[in-house]
Amino acid sequence: MTDAGLLVIDDLHVHYTLARPRLFAARPVLRAVDGVNLSVDRGRTLGLVGESGCGKTTLGMAVLRLVEPTGGRVEFDGVALRSLEGDALLDMRRRMQIIFQDPYSSLNPRQTAGDIVRSPLDVQKVGRPAEREERVAELFSLVGLRANQRNLFPHQFSGGQRQRISIARALALNPDFIVCDEPVSALDVAIQAQILNLLCDLQEELGLTFLFISHDLAVVQHICDEIAVMYLGVVVEKTNRKTLFRNPRHPYTRALLSAVPARRGTRKVERIRLEGDIPSPIDVPSGCRFHTRCAHAQERCRVEVPKLEEKSPGHWEACHFDTSTSASV
Ligand code: SF4
Repeated sequence: MTDAGLLVIDDLHVHYTLARPRLFAARPVLRAVDGVNLSVDRGRTLGLVGESGCGKTTLGMAVLRLVEPTGGRVEFDGVALRSLEGDALLDMRRRMQIIFQDPYSSLNPRQTAGDIVRSPLDVQKVGRPAEREERVAELFSLVGLRANQRNLFPHQFSGGQRQRISIARALALNPDFIVCDEPVSALDVAIQAQILNLLCDLQEELGLTFLFISHDLAVVQHICDEIAVMYLGVVVEKTNRKTLFRNPRHPYTRALLSAVPARRGTRKVERIRLEGDIPSPIDVPSGCRFHTRCAHAQERCRVEVPKLEEKSPGHWEACHFDTSTSASV
């Protein structure tokens, strides 16, 4: 992973201060994202994986400033996003879009598919009405929708087609960068493959850069160049896709990978079941956040926070020990 990219995330924090549970009690702080450093090169895809509640969606929203970071820096094409306001922020947002998980609830049921795709052009007043219609037709063709589906409503489409509408809408303003937030997890496996192929084709054709968020490593292995694994608000491992799948280091990554069905060309892995749920981000465990679920945890893990370090060229891990050669986690 290179140090600089189209998108650079530096020590990003998103904390929420909550209401007091009782009079005179301290206000709890929810640490959704707690010091994340990442970068994505132009035309590449960074996968962000982890269980639900690990902070990956919040991170994606903070990158777009759909939620305000409480600390750190996000730089897009050399510009610090937190410094932007008004028109400058709107202009930058044209270049950065998002595709949501649920293609049904993210589409207005009262708008036709064509109007949904056209809405970013209307909001940003791009071109004349006739030119906007031309652009809608172009976008329909780009994502594999038929021109005669222009006036249908979302409920008249299948889940996969609805996600194509979402993708067309995200592409309307010609963005450079798209956050794909679990874009296929609500779809059947066969349809997932179609949408992933579509995203890959669009990336190649349009030179797009993706931040691809998923709880499922089986999905990111088909689309990502680099992968970062998140646990409870922090990144615990990051490297390129091939290295992560062939030689995972962190016990958490290996547990996630062991749930992925056997893959050709990779060594056989036994299923590793993690005990318990991910702890609350309001009450983060001391030391290594993973110690409450890690079979390798030792006393040091309970008191000392492991740093994310480059353990081999391009392969970063946050763990005090080398557990990657152990038979079990
Ligand atoms: S630092 Fe300790 S608890 Fe954390 S992953 Fe490594 S061995 Fe497990």
